[in-house]
Order: sequence, then structure tokens, then C-alpha cells
Amino acid sequence: MTGGAGFIGSAVVRRLIAQTEAAVCVVDKLTYAGNLASLAPVSADPRYRFEKADIADGERMRAIFADFDPDIVLHLAAESHVDRSIDGPGAFIETNIVGSYVLLQEALRHWRGLEGGRRERFRFHHISTDEVFGSLGPDGLFDEATAYAPNSPYSASKAASDHLVRAWHHTYGLPTLVTNCSNNYGPYHFPEKLIPLMIINGIEGKPLPIYGNGLNVRDWLYVEDHAEALLLVAQNGRSGETYAIGGSAEMSNRQVVEAICALLDELRPDPAGPHARLITYVADRPGHDARYAIDAGKIRRELGWAPRQSFESGLRRTVEWYLAHQDWWNDIRSGVYRGERLGTGAAP
Ligand code: NAD
Repeated sequence: MTGGAGFIGSAVVRRLIAQTEAAVCVVDKLTYAGNLASLAPVSADPRYRFEKADIADGERMRAIFADFDPDIVLHLAAESHVDRSIDGPGAFIETNIVGSYVLLQEALRHWRGLEGGRRERFRFHHISTDEVFGSLGPDGLFDEATAYAPNSPYSASKAASDHLVRAWHHTYGLPTLVTNCSNNYGPYHFPEKLIPLMIINGIEGKPLPIYGNGLNVRDWLYVEDHAEALLLVAQNGRSGETYAIGGSAEMSNRQVVEAICALLDELRPDPAGPHARLITYVADRPGHDARYAIDAGKIRRELGWAPRQSFESGLRRTVEWYLAHQDWWNDIRSGVYRGERLGTGAAP
């Protein structure tokens, strides 16, 4: 698995080790977003192995394929933060496009060397985003047939990698899967993203900055529900297919922040007053998409998946987790990230 030290990847690794017999090799460059502390719960397991490597390094990828000999590749490594892609798109081109290309080439070489049932079963599963579809108006939903219309350097780089995966299937026959998922939230989420930033700032009594008028809508999915969907698709999805994954939980950014404030008022009352007093509105992100929402009917019909958490229950778990794991985010804020600009906190 690539990107296993990140937010979603680490949730998938923890699930794989806890709930399956699988052996997992995490390949991760440990950029600012990679955090081995998120893998601490599995680090002593003999079925877990970690390789610090860049997916754009073909020689390393070839050596890891040869040594670990995987049946499934789960490709999550990416530069993933829209604000950073606006400030510096280069790393997004390098990792999301060039890195995905290198990985596809090495996966193809590996797959061609497999025999019989292993060759049949092999899958290259590319984990992508609904942001590749651009922005919705007030109505309608994204699904697997939606035309691509990426608007940010991040989403354009993810769209490019989706197209490369599609081409490696159609041109070379590589057994691929693509999933396009809506916004995730939950434990171990890096503090620059909207929900963790607002929870942590709220705990610390700092301003809660919302982009523009706060009416941009996202469809939120609890990360454990995404991890479950990914394993279902990786094991039972049909080769060459795409699956859209979403939480059917549309919320404006303002609603999300207000819900966090209400939970903090209940779980960690601030003597200075309700947390909503900390909300401020800041200049909008350039090219900010108005609305994303997913029709997850295909994965529900074909694979029987549905989210287990409502937005309310998932958000409560998330706020409780951040309250109970201040060490995890304090280490990020004080050490590794010193000197870096954290996002101003609108949509991820
Ligand atoms: P993240 O930023 O938390 O983690 C990314 C991981 O990739 C980090 O551990 C980082 O060290 C690693 N990485 C980055 N560049 C690398 C490179 N060149 N080589 C090896 N490793 C590298 O991201 P996330 O939120 O966990 O997202 C994982 C994947 O899911 C991404 O592909 C993202 O586009 C996609 N996705 C994310 C969301 C979301 O809401 N977070 C939604 C849909 C899809």
C-alpha cells in the first residue's frame, strides 16, 4: 500500500491488520502529511512492514515489488491539500502524476510476471477523489458516469492519475480499480484540514476561520466507512471499474463548524462563552468549488456497502478522539510542522 502513513491510508492499515489475515507493506515517503504515530497501533505486528520510499523512484518500487510480491496494490500516496496545490503545484505533479505513472509501470511489470490464479486475482486499486468532477450546482450528484472537470491543481493532478490508470487497463490489460470518494473526516486527520483545524482551534480558544460565506457544500464520510469500502472494492470490485463512494451527508462548511462548536460546548465547555463566538469569515479560496455530492448507488448495489456512521455520530466520535489524543496533534503542531503555514481552514 502506498501512502499508508497518511490519514486514510493509516485507517486502512489498522483495519487490515485488525480484521484480516493480510500482510501489509506500507510504502510512504513520509512527507509533512505522513506520520508514523498513526501506525503505532500496528507497528509491532509481524504482518506489518514499512518502507520509506518515494513512489516516483522506479528502482525502489521495482525492488519492493520483487521483495514483497503483492497480490493487491492500494495506491493512496498523494499530495492531498488543495491550498498547498495553489501555493505550490509542483509536488502535486511529481507525486500524483509522475509518481502514479512510475507505480503503474512497476505494477504492470509485476503483474506480467505473475502466473495462474495470482495473475487473475491481482488488482491495482487507485484511490481518488470526487473533486475530479468539478463543482455541482444546487442539484444533482456525481456518479461513475460524470464527466471530469477538475478546477484546482490538486484535482487536476488526481484527474490525470485517474486517466493514467484507465489507460493502463485499456491499453495493457492491467487489472485496475478506481474509487472516487467524497471528503473524509475522523481520527488521525492532519490538523490543516477543515474539521481537525476547527476542533483544535476551538479547544485552544483560537479563531475558527471559514472561507467566503461558508456556504460551500461537501458530502462528508467517516474515514472508517471509507476504509471499509476500499477493502470491499479491492477484494470484490470488478476489474476495470470505477466506484463512487460518499456519505450522503451534505453539509455546508458553516454547518460543519457550527456542529463542532455545539459538540465542544457540550464536551469541553469554555468559560469564556459558546465556541461559535470564535467563528470568523476570511477571503475565499481561489476557484473554490461550490458543491460536491456523491451518488453511491453502484457500490451499494454491487458490493452491499453503506456508511455505518451518520455525520452526527461520526463527528461526535471525531471530536471525542481529538479531545482524548492531544499528544498526537500537539506533536504535529509543535515539532514537525514548525515554520510551515497551516491552512486557513476552509474545505480540504
Ligand atoms: P494524506 O495527505 O493524509 O496522506 C498522504 C500520504 O502519502 C502521506 O503519508 C505522505 O507521506 C504520502 N506521500 C506523499 N507523497 C508521496 C510520495 N511521493 N511517495 C510516497 N508517499 C508519499 O492524504 P489522505 O487524506 O489520507 O488521502 C489519501 C488518498 O485518498 C489521496 O490519494 C487522496 O487524493 C485520496 N482522497 C482523500 C480524501 C480526503 O478527504 N482526505 C477524499 C477522497 C480521496
